[in-house]
Parts: sequence; structure tokens; C-alpha cells
Amino acid sequence: MAASEQTFIAIKPDGVQRGLIGPIISRFEQRGFKLAAIKLTSPGKAHLEAHYADLSEKPFFPSLIEYMNSGPICAMIWEGRDAVKTGRAILGATNPLASAPGTIRGDYAIDVGRNVCHGSDSVENAQKEIALWFKEGEAVSYKAAQFDWIYEKP
Ligand code: GDP
Ligand code: MG
Repeated sequence: MAASEQTFIAIKPDGVQRGLIGPIISRFEQRGFKLAAIKLTSPGKAHLEAHYADLSEKPFFPSLIEYMNSGPICAMIWEGRDAVKTGRAILGATNPLASAPGTIRGDYAIDVGRNVCHGSDSVENAQKEIALWFKEGEAVSYKAAQFDWIYEKP
């Protein structure tokens, strides 16, 4: 598991409007993960449908797209060892009522249709999502000053 594993994390429109960009970023920073890219974006319906293509047959799909299209999204790439799996753990369960306190959804959300954040569910999907949301060159490569204090071995 390389310390360079990347995951796509997004703060959904409710998280942005509720002023949760700072608190959500803080959790990833404080854990030791490194921010590789960030932007506030309203990518439109077609892009959001592509992002959630796997869920297109679900009854909640139209309302999910409407929710995601209801305001700007804070799109990010976070990097670090086991970033995909640990990123999901930091987010909490999909349904906030089943999310443990201490997770983002467990602390900030109640309804599954307003669950504040997105995180990739596999390394393969992370790569696909990063390619969908970011252009080549938008992610920056740098060594974080704290790297050797976070990792025993690279
Ligand atoms: P995630 O990977 O934890 O975000 O969960 P999924 O990939 O299964 O679903 C994507 C998103 O669709 C979730 O984060 C929710 O916002 C929404 N969603 C999932 N299941 C439901 C549901 O049963 N009802 C509604 N209204 N939304 C749902
Ligand atoms: Mg998912």
C-alpha cells in the first residue's frame, strides 16, 4: 500500500452550503492525508449522471442527481497510505443514521439523501472518478513537510 494512493473526496452541495468545507478538510488533514487537488465546481447534470452511472437504475437516481446539481461541490483528491478505504471510514456509512459518531456523516448528517460527502469505494473507481472530475495536470505533486512525521517508511 503506497503512501501515494489517491482517493476522490467530494463535499456535496449540502456540505458546502452548511459551511462544512473547513471541518471536513480538517479531518483529512489532521489524519495525515495530503491534499493533491481542490476546486469548487458545478459540473452539471450529464457529468453527475456519469459520476453515478452505476446507480442509474435505482429509484432514487433522479433525486440524487437533482441533489448533486443543487449547488457547488467541493471536489478534492486526497493522497496517502490506504487513502481509499480510510477515506470511506472517515466519511462513515452511506446512511448517516447508521454512521458512527466521530465520522463525518455520523456527526453532521441525518438523511441518506443529504449525507454531505462522497468518497471513492475502490482504488479502481478512485482513478475513474479523478479522471472524470480533474483534468491532466490539475493535481499537484509535492512532498508534504510533515511526511516523515506521518510515515515510518515511504
Ligand atoms: P456512498 O458510496 O456511501 O456515497 O453510497 P452509494 O454509492 O451507494 O450511493 C451514492 C449516494 O446516493 C449516497 O451517498 C446517497 O447520497 C445516495 N443514496 C444511496 N442510497 C440511497 C437511498 O436509498 N435513498 C436516497 N434518497 N439516496 C440514496
Ligand atoms: Mg458510492
